[in-house]
Amino acid sequence: MEDSEEKFELEDLQIDLPGWLQDAATDLIRRHHDGKLPHGLLLHGSPGIGKRLFAVHLARQLLCDSISLGDGQARACGQCRGCVQLISGNHPDYRCLRPVTDKKTGRPGHSILIDEVREFREWIYLTSHYQGLKVAIIDTAEHMTVAASNALLKTLEEPAGSTVLLLLANRPIALPATITSRCQQIRLLTPQRQEALDWLSGHNVENAETLLRISSNAPMRALEFHSGAFQSQREQLFTAFSGIVTGRASIAKSVDALRDYPTSLCLSLLTSWVSDILKCHAGSAQHSRNPDKIDTLQTLEGELDSADWFSIYDQLLELNRSDSASFKAQPVLESIFAAIRLLKMQSVRS
Ligand SMILES: [Zn+2]
Repeated sequence: MEDSEEKFELEDLQIDLPGWLQDAATDLIRRHHDGKLPHGLLLHGSPGIGKRLFAVHLARQLLCDSISLGDGQARACGQCRGCVQLISGNHPDYRCLRPVTDKKTGRPGHSILIDEVREFREWIYLTSHYQGLKVAIIDTAEHMTVAASNALLKTLEEPAGSTVLLLLANRPIALPATITSRCQQIRLLTPQRQEALDWLSGHNVENAETLLRISSNAPMRALEFHSGAFQSQREQLFTAFSGIVTGRASIAKSVDALRDYPTSLCLSLLTSWVSDILKCHAGSAQHSRNPDKIDTLQTLEGELDSADWFSIYDQLLELNRSDSASFKAQPVLESIFAAIRLLKMQSVRS
């Protein structure tokens, strides 16, 4: 990665480490003080619970010269050279590797390539600037191509003395076993619903209940939805979805209007609506994740057989599992809308 690549992950340091992640960070800092911190850590857990936030806070705590463990929680001092340099994006012993942004389109890239890992490895083998630790984040490790993973393997096999590698993963199962077996796995937990709601209201998120339901209890994702044009995008996607289900809207036009929407938002919303349609079918509409849409969803339920809705739901779950959120919205929406349209045509014929 070029040094000029924006270190946007450091913006996460403006958010305090949430309560549900604090114990795991403190435990790792204690192990570091005891000289027992592994060289490679694989931090995994559901998307949107704060893995990247956790990793940058842990990096800051590891690079802080005056880390405190006074009240049972690890805290970086915020004042020392390590803290100041990291916050300003100039710490020479910190790096973050992620898919490089496309300079022409400004869109995030999809893969971490072998050349990027090679260049990253050269940095890893340099002596640390301050004779202390070096900390590197790989966000997200599933994005490494096979060749890139193989290149990283050598680094995990022959650790450079003072470097701690923090690999982030939504689905560790998608990583080669050669990588996972060389890292210590740390599972970061999804917070309890009330804790997540309290945290969101502390960040002035108004419709926290709805956002949290749609984001499967993942507070960082809910916060991300809140910061975007969530309400208007939700309405437009809902109009498109209804139009596709009733057969009144064209797939091409609908997808074109939604092509720049965040894929994770589209997937979360579509999954929640189809899940609610299945609840209507099962007579449990009162447990809907979208109470404001339930009347329309109830009507849409009759447009397809329940087996067809289950099939759509399975496809959505598979897309959620397969890290499609890192793809563009267009092909993901096209595949779902086409699947709905096909099932509809078949049901009309039969
Ligand atoms: Zn400090």
